Amino acid sequence: MELESLCLHAGYTPKNGEPRVLPIVQSTTFTYSSTKQVAQLFDLELPGFFYSRLSNPTVDAVEQKIAALEGGVGAMCTSSGQAASLISIMTLAKAGDHVLSMSSIYGGTFNLFAVTLKRFGIEVTFIDERSSDEEIKAAIRPNTKAIFGETIANPSMDVLDIERIANIAHEAGLPLIVDNTFATPILCRPFEFGADIVVHSTTKYLDGHALQVGGVIVDSGKFDWTASPRFEEFVTPDPSYHGIVYTKTFGKAAYIVKARAQLMRDLGCCQTAQGAFYINLGLETLALRMPRYCENALEVAKFLSTQDKISEVRYPGLESSPNFKLAQKYLKNGASGVISFELKGGREAGAKFIDSLKMTSLQVHVADIRTCVLHPASSTHRQLTDEQLVECGITPGLIRLSVGLENVKDIIADLTQALAAI
Ligand SMILES: *Cc1c(COP(=O)(O)O)cnc(C)c1O
Repeated sequence: MELESLCLHAGYTPKNGEPRVLPIVQSTTFTYSSTKQVAQLFDLELPGFFYSRLSNPTVDAVEQKIAALEGGVGAMCTSSGQAASLISIMTLAKAGDHVLSMSSIYGGTFNLFAVTLKRFGIEVTFIDERSSDEEIKAAIRPNTKAIFGETIANPSMDVLDIERIANIAHEAGLPLIVDNTFATPILCRPFEFGADIVVHSTTKYLDGHALQVGGVIVDSGKFDWTASPRFEEFVTPDPSYHGIVYTKTFGKAAYIVKARAQLMRDLGCCQTAQGAFYINLGLETLALRMPRYCENALEVAKFLSTQDKISEVRYPGLESSPNFKLAQKYLKNGASGVISFELKGGREAGAKFIDSLKMTSLQVHVADIRTCVLHPASSTHRQLTDEQLVECGITPGLIRLSVGLENVKDIIADLTQALAAI
């Protein structure tokens, strides 16, 4: 099936007389008639549901849909995008290990990596994704377990050269994890360019309606854990699972099964059935929504570029963008709906502009169906020092505009009157 059809049909096929719409299986637990069966479920010998922390039929359907959209072998939903990023790393790395991350990433992920993972004993170092191959290779250590980056970085809008970074990672026996939140599988499928694991904040475009916080990890099934000397936990018995060897028992799905069996079991940051139902509702129209976000955003970005009160507009779809070449390769169908721009008047002008908007709302969110706006330096990225801000590609006067699905004339009219108020 094509992506449009997968959005509607993947993950749930009702049998004769069953509900047409994905049912919400609102149950923590599932009952069985024999102890033997339950034991087999616990030993991961049989597939099936037994406790909704580990898996639930509604959540499972959404996982299958997202795996199909990304072209992976399996997926696991989490309670948030943050939980997805955390588990994507912890499935690979433990105390004493190292991860190499691109520096242009979401502020929450930056803090998770720089502060919280450090407390867990996992060291993350950051590198500019425009660094040369040699510089990136030099940043890989004997204890490195993964390279991490975002397809379109939030909010710098830098586009990741997935193929180049994947080649460097694979040469070193490392998987590349890509946060594909801003692109979605409709605009870019990172596995086609060599990424090994994809994470999303489903809170953003996949849900799209600002209803439900959530995340997902998708496994491409392509990384050969047995060929790299770095992943002993994948090829030796897991004492917490009766000596299961993940690569032996689960083959291509070793990573995503390990993520669920160890980390979801122990950390418990699961998505709910009701939450998965909302995410599914959003996914059903994803292929329809994404082109419209792209169309509207390109027109708004072009408009903003002509305004004298604005010094810089960052949108990878603009020909003037330093990311345009990468966007042509990785984002052929559009550069998504988020635009960053810098007002000449800096911090003060930013506040005046935002306070003057009428239809566009100020909200700590992106990728809503409604146009919304945010000032990262005073909100999402406020934990960061000025130096860290610059490292993430953010300036004090930067505005992040998430273009919605309204008629673009209304969006531009609102921006025009707010710019005039400065
Ligand atoms: C929002 C976001 C996250 C975090 O997701 P939550 O669902 O808010 O936890 C991670 N990565 C990117 C790119 C995001 O935009």
